[in-house]
Amino acid sequence: MDTATANPLAAKSTLVFQAPLFNLIKDSDYEPAIEAGMKKQLEEVRVIVENKEAPSFENTIVAMEKSGQDLTRAAKIFFGLTGSATNDTLQAVKARLAPKLTAHGDAITMNDALFQRVKAVHDGLATDSMDPVRTRLVERYFTRFKRAGALLDAKGKEELMKLNEEEANLNTRFQDNILKARSAAAVLVDKKEDLDGLDEEAIAAAAESARSKGHEGKWLIEIVNTTTQPVLSSLKNRALRERIFKASIARNSGGEADNSAIVTRLAQLRARKAQLLGFPNWAAYVMDDQMARTPESALKLLAGLAPAAARNAKAEADKLQALIDKQKGGFQLEPWDWDFYSEQVRKTEHDLDEAAIRPYLEFDSVLVNGVFFAAEKLYGVTFKERHDLPVYHPDVRVFDIIDTGGKAIGLFYGDYYARDNKQGGAWMDSFLDQCGLLGQQPVITQNCNYVKPAEGKPLLLSFDDVTTLFHEFGHALHGMLSRQEYPLFAGTATATDFVEFPSQINEALATDPAVLAHYARHYKTREPMPAVLLEKMKGARKFNQGYLTSEYLAAALLDIEWHSLGADAPLVTDVAAFERAALEKYGLFNAHVPPRYKTNYFSHIWGGGYAANYYAYMWSEVLDADGVAWFHEHGGFNRPNGMHFRSAVLSQGGSKDAGQLYRDFTGRDARLEPLLERRGLN
Ligand SMILES: [Zn+2]
Repeated sequence: MDTATANPLAAKSTLVFQAPLFNLIKDSDYEPAIEAGMKKQLEEVRVIVENKEAPSFENTIVAMEKSGQDLTRAAKIFFGLTGSATNDTLQAVKARLAPKLTAHGDAITMNDALFQRVKAVHDGLATDSMDPVRTRLVERYFTRFKRAGALLDAKGKEELMKLNEEEANLNTRFQDNILKARSAAAVLVDKKEDLDGLDEEAIAAAAESARSKGHEGKWLIEIVNTTTQPVLSSLKNRALRERIFKASIARNSGGEADNSAIVTRLAQLRARKAQLLGFPNWAAYVMDDQMARTPESALKLLAGLAPAAARNAKAEADKLQALIDKQKGGFQLEPWDWDFYSEQVRKTEHDLDEAAIRPYLEFDSVLVNGVFFAAEKLYGVTFKERHDLPVYHPDVRVFDIIDTGGKAIGLFYGDYYARDNKQGGAWMDSFLDQCGLLGQQPVITQNCNYVKPAEGKPLLLSFDDVTTLFHEFGHALHGMLSRQEYPLFAGTATATDFVEFPSQINEALATDPAVLAHYARHYKTREPMPAVLLEKMKGARKFNQGYLTSEYLAAALLDIEWHSLGADAPLVTDVAAFERAALEKYGLFNAHVPPRYKTNYFSHIWGGGYAANYYAYMWSEVLDADGVAWFHEHGGFNRPNGMHFRSAVLSQGGSKDAGQLYRDFTGRDARLEPLLERRGLN
């Protein structure tokens, strides 16, 4: 058929490093290419399953690793574009493809004949001696099937499927309730003077919100996901602060959008799923596949931080009360006062004048003299911009990634400006992952959302923007410097409680004195940033950490406690009592510092994919702080240390257990102290 050959996604690109053919690809090419890719992979799986030869590593595992190349190629470019430069056509294609891609994945993991072959290869591991990477590859395949229930008998599979279906329905109902309650909790304000303290932009937004909901001439304060609300740091009217805080914290408890029955049933059904799959509870099931391995080790970390966090939060509260008293407030600190008074403390103690800092943080200097400079300093890689490859938008920049010997090893696409058709935030992704088996070199992307300056004007960043740029580039390096044979282990394909470790190490380079001195120069005069600004920037990082650490830990511990219930535990009937008991257990029940998310509106764990995983943020940060300490103990961020990190961690992708990767790098298990020191919690 002509149409197949005419589709530029149907075959490997002939450009250098298989760079996507953005000059030829049309919106209408994605759907047929992805559909054809799914069909082809199922055909490849059928051939593997029907192979008359006995199952082997080559004819089963390697064959699976080689399958689905057409699908992966088209899907990666497609999802890259729907994130960076989407349109109605692509969005409609995405909606149509979503259920088909889920069904496609299920058709492979639920294929029992395929599982029997994987199991045969896995059983053979006992007698065959294979190198550790191949052994791990077999184990990962086997584990993936096992975790989806492949070892269950017919009755067990049926029950698991029913539970999965019920869980998906409850997830959806939970999320619907979240939206309903958030909307219902919005606070309507009659008089403009009650908004004293908010800036004009926020007041205008509140007026617009009120108007759009039929309250012309009033102001509507919308509620965001977290317990504490952004407006609380500047609203002077204490009674209004109280109304807003109480509206936020009461969400989804009682009333029409009550989530209590949903979360208690979810906790119960997950416990039953875990039992079917051979684990005492859902947290044990989830963490078995993570670096943490067991809920006990995650709890040890979180509980280890709790006393210092609680102590510091108490000291911060005392300081806020002293400020209230000094101002003759005549009241006791309440949770709705915290942000308002801590903002005043922040301003007097750490005033970071953004406007004074920005001229020293010009984007091109940060990228070239900071991010790229640090990558060369540590890993010997350099970046050379090229203008001959097609891009999906004229603002996208393409660079050759050049290794120590002068040889290009892949491509890097930087897309830095905000656009209406781009999702928010900053992220790393890839159009193609490195892997030896398929002869692929990495084609890595980085997206940010900086407001594009007017022609001839410089793009000046905030220090937050700078750390984010370094952070995302750390993920990018993980992809670029991957040296793996198998696609399953390429680049960032690691446990979720480990994947932020390389990015956070790179984030630390933003404040390395040598790196900072190299990029932080005034865009007009090239003068280095004054020392006093630098000190303020560093000091501000330790501010309010007792509160911030406590509210995070409270949420992370609630997550684990809910998912530590066993299948035999009775259904929880009183969510508030459960929550209070859980927090008291760790010394974190503090009316001034409520959890970042309370149980009934904790979307990460009940509506998204973060059940028993919320601890992972802190887990990665412990690794990062201890890893940075390792660099300092060994002479700092220099080439020999960088090359060691590159070979022990960055090149290894997911080819080893994450704990092993960490020990290969530092020669020890991660210690808590560097994190306590960083957060000023000692
Ligand atoms: Zn990250």
